[in-house]
Amino acid sequence: MEICRNVEEILERIYRTCLKVGRDPKDVILLAASKTQPPEKVTQAYKCGIRYFGENKVQEGIQKIETLKEYKDIHWHLIGGLQTNKAKYAVKYFEVIHSVDREELAREIDNRAFKIGKIQECFIEVNFGEESKYGVKEENLNKLFEYCLSLRNIKITGLMAIPPYFEDPEDVRPYFIKLRKLKEELEKMYNIKLPHLSMGMSHDFEVAIEEGATIVRVGTAIFGERK
Ligand SMILES: *Cc1c(COP(=O)(O)O)cnc(C)c1O
Repeated sequence: MEICRNVEEILERIYRTCLKVGRDPKDVILLAASKTQPPEKVTQAYKCGIRYFGENKVQEGIQKIETLKEYKDIHWHLIGGLQTNKAKYAVKYFEVIHSVDREELAREIDNRAFKIGKIQECFIEVNFGEESKYGVKEENLNKLFEYCLSLRNIKITGLMAIPPYFEDPEDVRPYFIKLRKLKEELEKMYNIKLPHLSMGMSHDFEVAIEEGATIVRVGTAIFGERK
């Protein structure tokens, strides 16, 4: 199966990159970005060993989660921007939400999580410019983080970003460094640990790993070009 070959190759590249910079490959999660992929493709990737899947849209994600619910060891992450009125479903279905970027959304996630007795694991998404319409601006990160700390049913465990696209992955490196630094600043300022950095996609995940990514979100390199 082509998907298996792709997964093997990516795992190999993750492994080599970790060795190069002295990181433990076990500290890097390969998350398959499965947006637009039908459940059959997701199942194939599962059978090739993938256990983490990232969906962009709540509705589309829920359909796949329902279809694949026999595979109980899948970790479903929401990696796309989230509308406040869909927070209820995101909380019900997803283990981690990567895209908390405003107080209103954090408050609603917290409310919904409280109602079902869940502590919702979340990352804060940082906006690095035009590429994404989601994410909190750097200058508002501390305030949002502090707000999230005041909520009981949200646990922020990391940061996420979608940097601008550059042909040369080396040009993305400064953004990965920036995200890591922002994380380290928060850890220092609030004396807590943020274990995760969700950064790196098909064409730049190696650079992201060199700069500390713990979750790389890879779509095209696993499934092929999206239609
Ligand atoms: C689509 C998507 C990815 C994966 O992108 P590829 O370039 O296909 O690897 C990663 N993160 C997010 C948020 C995405 O929407």
